[in-house]
Amino acid sequence: MGLPVRSCRMTAFTTLPLKPALLASVQALGYDEMTPIQAQSLPPMLEGRDVIAQAQTGSGKTAAFGLSLLQSLSVETIRLQALVLCPTRELADQVSKSIRKLAANIPNVKLLTLCGGMPLGPQLASLTHDPHIVVGTPGRVQEHLKRGSLHGGGIQVLVLDEADRMLDMGFSEAIDDIVGRIAKHHQTLLFSATYPEDIREVSRRLQRDPVEITVAAPADTKPAIEQRFVEVDPARKLDALAQLLTGERGQHALVFCNMRRDVDAVALELDQRGFSALALHGDMEQRDRDEVLVQFANRSCAVLVATDVAARGLDITALPLVVSYDIAHDPDTHTHRIGRTGRAGQTGLAITLCTPREKPKADNIEQVLGQPLAWHALKLSAPRGKTLNLAPMKTLVIDAGRQDKLRPGDILGALTGDAGLKADDVGKIDVFATRAYVAVSRSLASKALERLRAGKIKGRNFRVRTLG
Ligand code: AMP
Repeated sequence: MGLPVRSCRMTAFTTLPLKPALLASVQALGYDEMTPIQAQSLPPMLEGRDVIAQAQTGSGKTAAFGLSLLQSLSVETIRLQALVLCPTRELADQVSKSIRKLAANIPNVKLLTLCGGMPLGPQLASLTHDPHIVVGTPGRVQEHLKRGSLHGGGIQVLVLDEADRMLDMGFSEAIDDIVGRIAKHHQTLLFSATYPEDIREVSRRLQRDPVEITVAAPADTKPAIEQRFVEVDPARKLDALAQLLTGERGQHALVFCNMRRDVDAVALELDQRGFSALALHGDMEQRDRDEVLVQFANRSCAVLVATDVAARGLDITALPLVVSYDIAHDPDTHTHRIGRTGRAGQTGLAITLCTPREKPKADNIEQVLGQPLAWHALKLSAPRGKTLNLAPMKTLVIDAGRQDKLRPGDILGALTGDAGLKADDVGKIDVFATRAYVAVSRSLASKALERLRAGKIKGRNFRVRTLG
């Protein structure tokens, strides 16, 4: 048996220049060692550097930024010093709780959670004295800064938590506005599960010389793609497809056909069988294509049936399931298709249907892959009636957009305020020049529509309807 070596390990919290009160909290919480994201992000954060970190829920990111912002907090100074923005109230509550626990040994830290969907009155009452820390959703924080009920002049640390989700929810403008209303010199810590181009753009806009941190996913959480080949009778191809799409994986799946007319036929057939399915190909009007892409991205469409060319416009790569309804003409196209699946931590599934006549194409792919294809037999169940496989969301279209100065926050505000929806029931919001699209939980779509029609958005009445 060796001696305990914890204190000399590079991953021990004691290697960090943290206040004793914070080390005590970490110990009380039972955190023995730093998680990889903590070990990499805490040293630069504690030096005051801007940090952009790719971190998933469960990585320990909350404790990372929580410890950092508490380290630089001066309790004697009664002003707002740290602002944490989160996409949803649920996350804001969770983050507040974690920071409170970390601050347990620092007396008199005042932390407030300010989220939309909650009455303003009590929030205003609790703001008569400046808190040290605010955790909240962008819309509501922006509102308080605008009203002057919150003062951003003393903010030293701004945290954007789950930044990718905040952008998906249309909070980009609110975040920019907030940054314009707080102290010019502050540290910006950006945490995001994914790094699409718009996150990099936000980082370029809001951060100064950031330290970039990506923690390699542990071996068992690397994106992995499982490829299956299924031999099918041409007459039962649609039955095979419907069967493969039933169940959870079919909740967000991309189906490739080689020909445009098959795209339409397959999408129509799936729709008739109870799937939220849409077609996407080059013969469609631009507006229709945009609407299909919006609905697939915001989860109002579960199955997208597309040609290879049309699918290039799709800004999503991490789908749980990709199906080649027709085997691709060449191995390159096949590789592109299957590259659309495979998410960190979960295996993506790429299924290729193959009729006996298409066998030579499969052989070609096998040669290029340099390994035997995994053939799976599909036992077709007797054709059933309608199997409902609906997408979780539904899209509402508002006949107004950027030209009407409509912003995502206005739509979110109208839905969570007057229409009484919870922020979690509202999904992605896309605002185009003359139109806006908002995804709402499918079961609440008619209620949301009714309320939006009865109420006002930004004090005005716009035409609203459901899509699909
Ligand atoms: P988060 O990624 O911030 O949602 O945190 C995930 C979970 O990990 C939370 O329940 C934390 O309490 C816990 N946690 C954070 N840091 C550590 C650590 N260094 N050791 C053990 N657990 C931790």
